[in-house]
Amino acid sequence: IFGALPPQGEDQIIRLMGQFRADPRPDKVDLGVGVYRNAQGVTPVMRAVQTAEQQLLQSQNTKAYTALAGEQAFRDAMADLVLGPAQDPARLASVATVGGTGAVFMALRLVTMARPDAQVWVSDPTWPNHIPITQHVGLGLKTYRYFDAESRAIDAAAMLADLSQVRPGDVVLLHGCCHNPTGANPQPSDWQALATLLATKGAVPLIDIAYQGFGDGLEADAAATRLIAQTCEEVLIAASCSKNFGVYRERAGVLMVMTPPQLRDTLQGTLTALNRLNYSFPPDHGARLVSMVLTDPALRADWQAELEDMRTGMLHLRETLARELRRLTGSDRFGFLAQHRGMFSRLGATPEQVEKLRADHGIYMVGDSRMNIAGLTKANVSQVAQAIAACNI
Ligand code: PMP
Repeated sequence: IFGALPPQGEDQIIRLMGQFRADPRPDKVDLGVGVYRNAQGVTPVMRAVQTAEQQLLQSQNTKAYTALAGEQAFRDAMADLVLGPAQDPARLASVATVGGTGAVFMALRLVTMARPDAQVWVSDPTWPNHIPITQHVGLGLKTYRYFDAESRAIDAAAMLADLSQVRPGDVVLLHGCCHNPTGANPQPSDWQALATLLATKGAVPLIDIAYQGFGDGLEADAAATRLIAQTCEEVLIAASCSKNFGVYRERAGVLMVMTPPQLRDTLQGTLTALNRLNYSFPPDHGARLVSMVLTDPALRADWQAELEDMRTGMLHLRETLARELRRLTGSDRFGFLAQHRGMFSRLGATPEQVEKLRADHGIYMVGDSRMNIAGLTKANVSQVAQAIAACNI
């Protein structure tokens, strides 16, 4: 039977990682893969997570199964973190998932059960995984304009114009903050217009929030999600703990569904059944660490302080790179680097220029010119600026 399977294309980022490893140049710079790195180039276990892990080692006396929907404490803590005052337990159903990817997958599987002919609208561009997951679950795919190639900001008018064509029951995938891959995000007034448009059209927002705390801060980064949760009747929220808790390999995430109160119990039952159908119990270790950190005041304060250092460090690198490029090119055209938020910026280079940065300067970024800002350091930022300026981007 397996002879009928088509070959799967090689993942672009995995290929790039291999090329980077094989590059003998000592001053090579990895701006490719999407994990946070500190000034030493390390993706650290966060202090509070490490402490929670030590506590867990001392106190955990069983690894027996937990709950099919995941621990209530984890789901409550994540609802507090993401939804804050916009939380309404009467409208909220949730399940722990296998990372943020699992949450996106489950959200779209839920849509196939509820509305198999829904179309899923994704931004052009979007996190590449959104597209094959949508196709894999068998939903129709539409794109909406998002990024303005000239200004490297978003084209809000084009986005709203395209989304005015959504049908009732269509799903609109939005990045809650820190858009991946562009780094360009809607302004508060754009979010307001978007929320009103989607509510008016009866579309269902699916908010993918994978970088809360990496942009303007924990509260500010959740503002758009909260606004939409309060404006639209039905909302899907896929939250990842991979980046902001640094628990990438533990696979911790949550899918939250806001629904009218009379449908809440059905939704909770359906989400729980989806977990059981797909993998039975969700992973517990990372989720447990997250809820320990969020509910212990000392651990939470330490986690927030470390996250804030990571965020401001990335902002500082953005500003330094933008300033260096202003100095080297005598123009403001790279000012967008300091305006973008999160771990990524789309530089706007052609594939040939991206290849030239790699071949001639040892600077690795994804082919669409997405650069990981956390791959910059004080030591390499001026080298990167010189290379970008030399490539006439
Ligand atoms: N959504 C977006 C936009 C992402 O960038 C990522 C991480 N690359 C995810 C979801 C999922 O992250 P994970 O499955 O590792 O939690």
